[in-house]
Amino acid sequence: MKVKFYGVRGSIPTPGPSFAKYGGNTACVHVELNDGTDIVLDAGTGIRLLGNKLASKTAPIHLLLSHNHWDHIQGFPFFVPAYQPEREIFITPGLTKEYRPEAILEQMTGSFFPVPREALNSLITFKEYAESENSWAIGSANITRMRMNHPGGGSCYCIEADGKKLAYITDNELYPPYQKDGDFQKFVAFAKDSDLLIHDAQYLVEDMPKKHGWGHSVAEEAVKLAMAAQTKILALYSHDPERTDDDVESITSHADDILKIGGADDAVCIAAYEGLKIIL
Ligand SMILES: [Zn+2]
Repeated sequence: MKVKFYGVRGSIPTPGPSFAKYGGNTACVHVELNDGTDIVLDAGTGIRLLGNKLASKTAPIHLLLSHNHWDHIQGFPFFVPAYQPEREIFITPGLTKEYRPEAILEQMTGSFFPVPREALNSLITFKEYAESENSWAIGSANITRMRMNHPGGGSCYCIEADGKKLAYITDNELYPPYQKDGDFQKFVAFAKDSDLLIHDAQYLVEDMPKKHGWGHSVAEEAVKLAMAAQTKILALYSHDPERTDDDVESITSHADDILKIGGADDAVCIAAYEGLKIIL
């Protein structure tokens, strides 16, 4: 399983020299299974560059959305395969509180975007699964899904294939002040023994209590989850738009120290950055 990050920033794109190392594009991760199946996690602005690459292939694309906030769908109108005739794109919407499974295309109206959804020549199919059916196959992978804690709701995903496990849990507030969709132990079970855990780490302890309830986690909480789930690699994700490269580096170093102090000697904490490729 090959995992490549195309967008790692939370909330809003952050161009500029202070953000060049980790990147300013919003959520998008490409997973290529050993059988060649292409799975895309979220369609933030990072999906534009990925689209240029996938345009040279003809195989179906499987897009799994966490939720419909702008930073997770905004790149789709710039996704070249969506305009390719007969290209098959399967989209699984997030388990959002407001039922709008086609929100990613609803942004393609004259008000928000100049090109209408009717101009997309690809064959787009929305794959909606009932909550009783939170596990399904894509290519050689088994996908599992769970609700996450976020204003407006949404989904997190595990992809298990080729003997490896990836957990993608972003825009998740591990300890929210509002009614939880999942408690900490549930996320531990979900991410248990993952080879790679991509988790929201947008905030620092000092951001609280101001940002408590905004739907993101404190970096140390993500570390705690990685330790409890015995994850091998924790990739801090959804970097705060105010956080410069230096800030992200210092957060990551601190998080990795905690992992080691906690006895997780074999585990490693990294900060996701655009272009990072991990082969599991
Ligand atoms: Zn969100």
